[in-house]
Amino acid sequence: MNQTSQETFLGHPKGLFILFFTELWERFSFYGMRAILVLYLTAETTDKLNPGLGWTSKEALALYGWYGMFVYFMGIFGGAIADKWLGQKKSVVVGGVFIILGQFSLAVDSIMMFYSGLLLLVCGVGLLKPNISTMVGGLYPKGDSKRDAGFTLFYIGINIGALAAPILVGYFGEKVDWHLGFSLAGFGMIVGQAVFVFGGKHLKAVGNLLKHSPTHGHLADQPLTKVEKDRIVVLLLSFLIVIVFWAAYEQAGGLMNLYARDSVDRFVFGFEVPTSWFQSLHAFYVVLIGAPMAWLWLKWGNMGKESSAIFKMGVGMIIMSISFLALMGAVYDASLNMLGKAPIYWLLFSYFLHVIAELSISPVALSFITKLAPAKYASLMMGAYFAITGLGNKAAGILGEAAQEAGEMAVFSVIALACLFVGILIFLFVKKLKVISHGAEDDITELSGVEG
Ligand code: GLN
Repeated sequence: MNQTSQETFLGHPKGLFILFFTELWERFSFYGMRAILVLYLTAETTDKLNPGLGWTSKEALALYGWYGMFVYFMGIFGGAIADKWLGQKKSVVVGGVFIILGQFSLAVDSIMMFYSGLLLLVCGVGLLKPNISTMVGGLYPKGDSKRDAGFTLFYIGINIGALAAPILVGYFGEKVDWHLGFSLAGFGMIVGQAVFVFGGKHLKAVGNLLKHSPTHGHLADQPLTKVEKDRIVVLLLSFLIVIVFWAAYEQAGGLMNLYARDSVDRFVFGFEVPTSWFQSLHAFYVVLIGAPMAWLWLKWGNMGKESSAIFKMGVGMIIMSISFLALMGAVYDASLNMLGKAPIYWLLFSYFLHVIAELSISPVALSFITKLAPAKYASLMMGAYFAITGLGNKAAGILGEAAQEAGEMAVFSVIALACLFVGILIFLFVKKLKVISHGAEDDITELSGVEG
């Protein structure tokens, strides 16, 4: 299918903006629900104004951890279902319906509906998230240098949703009624679904089931070639990087969150910054520096400098390492002062570096997968990526728990060293990995790695 004939807006295919807004609202729904989940679980059942389920913090955090893992882990099945039966586009629609039903199930005050809601959300996000991401790649012809920038734009959409959700859903859920909060998350997904369905005319060329495509029919049953197998190896290796990255990054909601609450001097001009506000920092920074970062990488590449995805990931890991060095600085600084509290700038700086690293790794990885995955496994590989991020999330929780005994300094330094080690390893092997990618990032003669 000819991807280059698509209508464009701001230099990108119009379909990108349909996917941008759909995913913005899906993430609004996702992060909105996540923002109030633990609060709802732990709120007293006897609270007159806004009763919750009365769970202990430990029980609530355990459910939160498992939910965080499964919701991404399900991506493997969501990807496989798209490759085999539904195609990406239909999977996104079915996933969206599951999410809407899931959010409104949570909105009903019944424990059975609560668990059914969680199950529906796990299935819905598993179907929607990897497949909408693969569709972004399908909009760009192979070798198009705009693909990475397109993914960064898409990623900015994600974070606009992530930034707004805790504020709106959080406010109405916490201050008015938990169930109203979950309903709002459901309405968010309804808007996302409407954008996707009504914007369908800009997505005609992407996300269709390969087997039913007359132009690609011959690809479906062929065994993998040597080149395709090599590329899968590179992808699997890059997934190892991704586990370490997310295990480090997701400290933000756990250990770094508690550290901010207990050991950081959060007073700014006499105002005490609420701990929860730090949770919006990632999304805020992504929206702020996402576009300049994409532009910088594009310019860097156009200058003929090394800008392969693997290289960017290496840079990201080194920056991630420095961000944990900054946290070590905080712990050290706190040990020197009388109150035993670290100045706030360490944390603000560390979060900023987190996001530079994130923008060098996360949207880059999404784009990379759509370049390297063989067409018939495109969604499955994307799903596997999200499953890996789910494992990273779980690993983050385990590391956070370890800090309760080993102390923050020990855990922050282990993470800094692990990121540094992976970063150096990447730089050592970047050339070799490029060889076994067989020019996937710049080959403009072959078919794109995804349907389109
Ligand atoms: N924060 C990004 C999102 O919500 C990435 C999450 C992930 O890859 N696990 O899409």
